[in-house]
Amino acid sequence: MRHKLSIGIIDLVAKAPTRTMWMRVMGANFVSIMPQVVATWCEQQGHDVTLVTYTGRENLIAQLPTQVDLVFISSFTEAALLSYALSNLFRSRGAVTALGGPHARCYPQDAQKYFDYVLGFTDKALINEVTRDCSQHRPVGRNLSASHHPVDLPGARERWKFIEQALRKAPLIKIVPLLSSLGCPYSCEFCIDSSVRFQPLAPEAMKDDLRLLLTKIKHPRVAWHDPNFGVRFDECMDVIEEVVPPGRIDFIAESTLSLLSEARVKRLAHNGFKALLPGIESWFELGKKSRTGRSSGMDKVRKVSDHVNMILRHIPYVQTNHIFGLDRDHGPDPFELTKRFLDLSPGAFPAYSMLSVFGQAAPQNLSFQRENRVMPIPFHFLSNIQMNMKPKNYSWSQFYDHLIDVTTYSYSFRMILRRLRANGETIPRWLNVVRGLSSERFGRVRYFTEISRRLETDRELRRFFEQETNDIPRYFIEKIRRDLGHFWDWLPEGAIHHNPNAYLLSENRTSPPESIVRSSYA
Ligand code: SF4
Repeated sequence: MRHKLSIGIIDLVAKAPTRTMWMRVMGANFVSIMPQVVATWCEQQGHDVTLVTYTGRENLIAQLPTQVDLVFISSFTEAALLSYALSNLFRSRGAVTALGGPHARCYPQDAQKYFDYVLGFTDKALINEVTRDCSQHRPVGRNLSASHHPVDLPGARERWKFIEQALRKAPLIKIVPLLSSLGCPYSCEFCIDSSVRFQPLAPEAMKDDLRLLLTKIKHPRVAWHDPNFGVRFDECMDVIEEVVPPGRIDFIAESTLSLLSEARVKRLAHNGFKALLPGIESWFELGKKSRTGRSSGMDKVRKVSDHVNMILRHIPYVQTNHIFGLDRDHGPDPFELTKRFLDLSPGAFPAYSMLSVFGQAAPQNLSFQRENRVMPIPFHFLSNIQMNMKPKNYSWSQFYDHLIDVTTYSYSFRMILRRLRANGETIPRWLNVVRGLSSERFGRVRYFTEISRRLETDRELRRFFEQETNDIPRYFIEKIRRDLGHFWDWLPEGAIHHNPNAYLLSENRTSPPESIVRSSYA
């Protein structure tokens, strides 16, 4: 009989200890579904499982069993250094460690140095393999991957105790993550989901999830974690209309504008959708997904603004996603047009990302690496607010000046007030205020201003940003040390350095990585 293991699963929602208001209010709502799925599969195999969601406040050591055999960590790249430190800590106590989540998919070569297993697409057979083997693979861990996402996942009923545990942590607003599909049929070249086959999950599974929530929570709030919700629009709406009485569940979803005609938006509103997050990305390209065809510049701004205002007439919270630093961008237009968009659509909450090259997340990253444009910015800073590649048509100081200007404009007290007036419902209104002040205005603007100032005054940092050296500037090292607090002592030697061209190097290898060999799991 298989040895019963004590398994710890850590879902890293925060990248370091934190006390911010935004993370306090919303942190526990950012849980991922896969750690709950892995926890369920491990329990089904008869193992003892403890799942901890780390929102920056928990004492991870106290919450996991002292004699844990195997620790799975799910991490975004931004939290990778924390995950490396935790792996080191648990290995020192005799545990075997495995990494999953976006960082494992983007930077497997780097993560293999610090984990016994690095997991790409993960299905039940793959988890069985890890728990059966459960042995040290050092100095280089095994990189395992199924050929694609699993075709079905344990539903909310099987995951309920883990869902409930996360909900208990959310003090005010409690959101349950669900899925109706995986992957995306679009092919936006910067996106990790662009090369993942679109795969709807079974309608019966969706129905069962929704029925369960109606019995467990008085007025559930559901965030669909689909990369692009509603690709099979009618099928999803039929399921919701069959199972959910109008007004009983509030829904949040990320969806492209091209899927959101007025008839559909009305149907979404009727079915309880309270927040939509469409991607706009650029005023000069990606017209297909925003339904603006060949329109570009101010013409596209007007069309998108009309579309967003139409959505806001039916749906109280709309977050529009924008990307700065695309190779097509030059001059002040991308930033000025975004400000004009906000003037025309004051109810929309803008979310800004910089174009960053996340290892092997997207095929276009190969060409950036081939051109040697990618800098080894430590993972700790690789979120959507720090580019790791010099913008093609801007100097750094021009780029930061524009960024500070557009961000200050977007989260000024005047704009926050206009947004507050434009949003119809209480929770979306106050979410806009808390987020606008906490993470955007005081977080981002301060960070951009600091980097911009240092580009003038800090020679080390300037040389690094100009790719004259790969030595990590002391400013970054000190910030990582401060942020990680006591976890800094567990950071393995060399962990703040990574090879930004590891994807390109791996493509040039002659023998296939084990991740391809594992395709027999399909
Ligand atoms: S539509 Fe959205 S999820 Fe789909 S590939 Fe584009 S950015 Fe990614």
